[in-house]
Amino acid sequence: MFRTEIVSDTTFTVLKRYEDLKVIGAGSQGIVCAADDTKTGNRVAIKKLSRPFQNVTHAKRTFRELVLMLIMKHKNTIRLLNLFTPNRSLEEFSELYLVMELMDANLCQVINLELDHDRMSYLIYQLLCGLKYLHSAGILHRDLKPSNIVVKSDCTLKILDFGLARITGNEFMMTPYVVTRYYRAPEVVLGLGYQENVDVWSVGCIMGEMIRGTVLFPGDDHLDQWNKIIQQLGTPPDDFLDKLGHSTRNYILSQHGNRAGLPFKVLFPDSLFPNGSEDDDDDNYTNQARDLLSKMLIMDASKRTSVVDALQHPYVRQWYDASECEVPPPTRYDHTIDDAKYPVEKWKGKDLHQEKLFLDFCP
Ligand code: AMP
Repeated sequence: MFRTEIVSDTTFTVLKRYEDLKVIGAGSQGIVCAADDTKTGNRVAIKKLSRPFQNVTHAKRTFRELVLMLIMKHKNTIRLLNLFTPNRSLEEFSELYLVMELMDANLCQVINLELDHDRMSYLIYQLLCGLKYLHSAGILHRDLKPSNIVVKSDCTLKILDFGLARITGNEFMMTPYVVTRYYRAPEVVLGLGYQENVDVWSVGCIMGEMIRGTVLFPGDDHLDQWNKIIQQLGTPPDDFLDKLGHSTRNYILSQHGNRAGLPFKVLFPDSLFPNGSEDDDDDNYTNQARDLLSKMLIMDASKRTSVVDALQHPYVRQWYDASECEVPPPTRYDHTIDDAKYPVEKWKGKDLHQEKLFLDFCP
């Protein structure tokens, strides 16, 4: 039933129906291969989770990710097609493979391409649609970044993961990969309360990067991240600075004083946008794109636009389709999962089995 292959130093023990494995990506969660599904004739992506049950943090994260993948059914969130383990008993159960729809590239690979307004606005529209759907399940992503967004050459887009659990483990313990924080909203970096528009900041960072071709706020560390933000957007008002804590606040004031933000026309000059030689509407689109950015990249969440309003913004509204944006919400995610304190064996066995989430696939 299973076949073992070594793909780029990683052992993949997969169901025989999957052939011709080729590595296409690696992330904090594991290695991803493209493969032929001989049963359906489709190409698929197979992710081998790295040590899914190594410790309680891994086991909980694995469980959360699976529950979410099983409940999310939207064209802009990745869909699970199959799930299997070659292990034959619960005691042995240590390997887990997820089979997903195969996409062509992640967004990092697209950011360097010169995107016209139609493509850019369509990508941003789909991202907002996928987020609106996640939010309707009670999931606020909080860690959206280009490597966790995948696209196809026909410009369709899907969100690959479901972000940070409400209570996160120590990320350093969880992964040998450097955790990218460039896209995290100020309120996440500060550990403050957050609402749905926490993810709008990340969309702003991603859209800005598509236009500029480089990361907007590439901080070397926590403090430098603030430098990069303030150098461009200016010192936030006192009420916001007060939330930063004494040392960060003093650091910012000593480094920047009361710095005014740069106008968005300077941050994103016309020269960075598709040029209007052939299309008279391009100037108009450019102004709209800049306007949307200026509403998403606001440090203070209470003044930042919402996902719902962003979907109505003239830059993306042309794509609005109720069958994509107003779909019934999925089963609400049970947040007690994030708070539960079970031992690994329980995550591995009891919940995954007895909740009958992947009845057909497990040992
Ligand atoms: P992840 O482990 O989910 O962070 O994925 C790591 C990388 O693998 C992503 O950045 C993508 O480049 C690639 N990848 C993951 N899933 C897929 C998929 N379904 N289709 C295409 N590429 C994928």
